Amino acid sequence: MNTLNIIVPCYNEEKTLNNFYFELSEHLKKIYSIKWNVLFIDDGSSDNTLNVIKDLANKEDNISYISFSRNFGKESAIYAGLENSDADLNIMMDADLQDPPSLIAEMIKHVNDGYDIVASRRVTRKGEPPIRSFFARLFYKLINLLSNINIVDGARDYKLITKQVTDSILELKEYNRFSKGIFGWIGFKTKWIEYENIERTNGESSWSFWDLFKYSIEGIISFTTAPLHIATVSGIIFSIIAFISIIVIILKTLIMGDPVEGWPSTVSIILFVGGIQLFSIGVLGQYLGKIYLETKKRPIYLIKEKKF
Ligand code: UDP
Ligand code: MG
Repeated sequence: MNTLNIIVPCYNEEKTLNNFYFELSEHLKKIYSIKWNVLFIDDGSSDNTLNVIKDLANKEDNISYISFSRNFGKESAIYAGLENSDADLNIMMDADLQDPPSLIAEMIKHVNDGYDIVASRRVTRKGEPPIRSFFARLFYKLINLLSNINIVDGARDYKLITKQVTDSILELKEYNRFSKGIFGWIGFKTKWIEYENIERTNGESSWSFWDLFKYSIEGIISFTTAPLHIATVSGIIFSIIAFISIIVIILKTLIMGDPVEGWPSTVSIILFVGGIQLFSIGVLGQYLGKIYLETKKRPIYLIKEKKF
């Protein structure tokens, strides 16, 4: 019999967890072909999440948990879940019931049919502020344009993966984790299943707009060096333009004796080029910062307590 481990990162989810476990177990009980376990990762929640998990774990025997020493972020929680799982199949799933447990049976079927990854994708962004959807779409366009791995719009972290895929993901030990890119990078035979967006049952999304912005930059920096090329190419283009204009101005002055005019245009050009320079240095700094963090080889997460 196959074993299935469901990895659930939880950050301040005290209100949703009981409901989540109830719904999830209702669906799992109907799948007779597997032995399942739920692994909650308390990602340094500041509310009562850990106690809610402990209460559940005392009542049910197919629950295990890990609690982090502080908030390390969802990516770290997923990594910890995969690292501490020895099941044949792993599912990553949000605690807020935005990832419908009703899909699990279908996911298992696809894996039995020979797929390595069964991934889910939201086809609508209903219930999301339009401005957020707009920027999300823009981000996917941009990152696919810049990098040569395919990152799917609307792809959720809700996925079923085999042991082999789990081991492959764990091989990527980078500190700056961007799981959408990691999945694009590792390959394997992937089956996409689509579903409509479902609103959060309780509480609020812990992602602010600023968080999403930083996440997007992180994604781009982690999986492509295209911004460095853009900086280089714009540097070359501006140097060529500057060179040509210098020649033109010298010739104009020599031939027509035209005194150089136009203080405002000069200042605008200086500001413009200065801006590009600062931007390019900023891009460089982003990569440098990432290299700095990677070279420290810090652990991806720290465990305070756990129960298996
Ligand atoms: N989460 C986490 N650590 C964090 C932020 C979020 O473990 O620092 C968990 C959260 O509890 C939830 C999942 O990641 O189970 C997705 O979070 P959320 O619903 O806020 O994100 P969204 O669905 O809006 O992408
Ligand atoms: Mg959510």
